[in-house]
Amino acid sequence: MKLIFIGPQGSGKGTQAKMIAEKFGLCHISVGDLLRKAKGKIKEEIDKVMNAGKLVPDEFVEELLLKKVSGNGCAKGYILDGYPRNVKQLDFFEKNFDVDKVFEISISDDESVRRILGRRSCSKCGAIFNVNSFPKPKVDDVCDNCGGKLIKRKDDNEGALRKRLGIYHRETERILKMHDFVKIDGEQDIEKVFEDIVKVLG
Ligand code: AMP
Repeated sequence: MKLIFIGPQGSGKGTQAKMIAEKFGLCHISVGDLLRKAKGKIKEEIDKVMNAGKLVPDEFVEELLLKKVSGNGCAKGYILDGYPRNVKQLDFFEKNFDVDKVFEISISDDESVRRILGRRSCSKCGAIFNVNSFPKPKVDDVCDNCGGKLIKRKDDNEGALRKRLGIYHRETERILKMHDFVKIDGEQDIEKVFEDIVKVLG
């Protein structure tokens, strides 16, 4: 099973991709996470672009993606989360790999802003919380799981977010005009969104 999850920032596509990957034994490929984990000389350049809310140049992304998709753990298939983000990336992907289904997880821009500005991650264990939605940490800025300090991603500020949403509407949504896709209402509860996706996958 080879799936692509597309959605605006905060739509929950990462959360859903993780849950669906676990259920069906697929490999979850988050390009944003791959870029955040990049090491060496390219790290500084990638961080600068990401913190400004812009797209990282294709040469960096393609190399990381090729390595990951053909690596161990993806034999049963994969879910791409955060790739492709424009028509050029879709062309590159389809030249090299297959896609069975594309899902769009949709939320409004207002909901995206509300969720992203409330997003926090644990500096110790990486768990994700949200002070404006779900799951809310019991104590502000403290991780429920390990007691680590909760921090905001550098690109989760209003300026960078507006830029990222602009790229989504201008470039990523064009993919949906060129490809069959299944639209899922991302403003529902996490469990209901999950159920809707599972229903389509059978
Ligand atoms: P995400 O974690 O999916 O919100 O992505 C965070 C940031 O990573 C984006 O704003 C981009 O700077 C970068 N990024 C993620 N996916 C891609 C991609 N497919 N192409 C270029 N840059 C990307």
